[in-house]
Amino acid sequence: MPGRRRPTRRIQVGKVAIGGGAPISVQSMTNTDTRDITATVAQIRRLAAAGCEIVRLAVPDQEAARALAKIKAQVEIPLIADIHFDYRLALAALEAGVDGLRLNPGNIGGPERVKAVVKEAAARRVPIRIGVNAGSLEKEALAAHGGVTAEAMVASALKHIRLLEDLDFREIKVSLKASEVPLMLAAYRLMAEKVDYPLHLGVTEAGRGLEGAVKSAVGIGILLAEGIGDTIRVSLTGDPVQEVIAGFAILRALGLRQQGIELISCPTCGRCQLDLDAVAARVQEELRGIKQPLKVAVMGCAVNGPGEARQADVGIAGGPGFGLLFRHGRPVRKVKEEDLARALVEEVKRLAAERREQ
Ligand code: SF4
Repeated sequence: MPGRRRPTRRIQVGKVAIGGGAPISVQSMTNTDTRDITATVAQIRRLAAAGCEIVRLAVPDQEAARALAKIKAQVEIPLIADIHFDYRLALAALEAGVDGLRLNPGNIGGPERVKAVVKEAAARRVPIRIGVNAGSLEKEALAAHGGVTAEAMVASALKHIRLLEDLDFREIKVSLKASEVPLMLAAYRLMAEKVDYPLHLGVTEAGRGLEGAVKSAVGIGILLAEGIGDTIRVSLTGDPVQEVIAGFAILRALGLRQQGIELISCPTCGRCQLDLDAVAARVQEELRGIKQPLKVAVMGCAVNGPGEARQADVGIAGGPGFGLLFRHGRPVRKVKEEDLARALVEEVKRLAAERREQ
């Protein structure tokens, strides 16, 4: 269990608090065209249903910025506008009512433009994430630190931070993403010593599927276990809902968030008495929407199953042609093999409903 968390300031992204002891939040980013309001709203709703707490959208042009107001009116989850280079897009996004900006003030064309954006963000109490990416460091930072190093990344972020602080703006969070895990670890650790702003963790361009999720889990998980990090985004190629699932899996694994179902399923061995993978997959899918923290076990045999999953709230253990349904490690009843997944799902939903009523 991770110990003490690094103390930070607290900022507010809409209804979600970040830092200062707030629960570590899970973010994602849409990969629809932001100008396509229908598709973007549909994707944000799917993300929210998966538990996503903050969604970022790319804002490449004025049409996308204008779409933000219409999108915002149709969703409840806080939205962050991702802006590069054009301060007018930042102003338009603020006008549209976004809850956060992701922008690097040193890249938007001079002090007057920074001042205009910061004034508007401050008036609306909208925080700004400074997002430094190892792949796009400024020439000066690279030259001063001998290439892409943690020091160069931190120096770049500090330069952007100072621009905001000079305008007395401190509603800031910071990310220092790299696709190399050791580099991102070093950058975040260094930054954690220098400022008390909350940190947004991520491994950028982590890849796809299992490999991308593992890479993200290593980078994000190590820092979280050290007490560093206040909000996370797992970046995966493909459906962003997978990012949310991976994000909560990381937080659950570290005991930092308890939301939703934790599936305990055995790796199977020669004693396995059922098509465990199919049952586990169905159970996982059908219980995706449950918000109560529950441990659900799917075990291959009755010899070790209930014992191995004693800490589970509900579980099944395979037997010859049937399975044993158990609750808190104690057998409840026998169920025919073909009905096992359904019986388990029903039992979990029943327990979730009971917990809701308590
Ligand atoms: Fe093997 Fe049974 Fe353990 Fe699964 S629960 S790994 S089938 S002994």
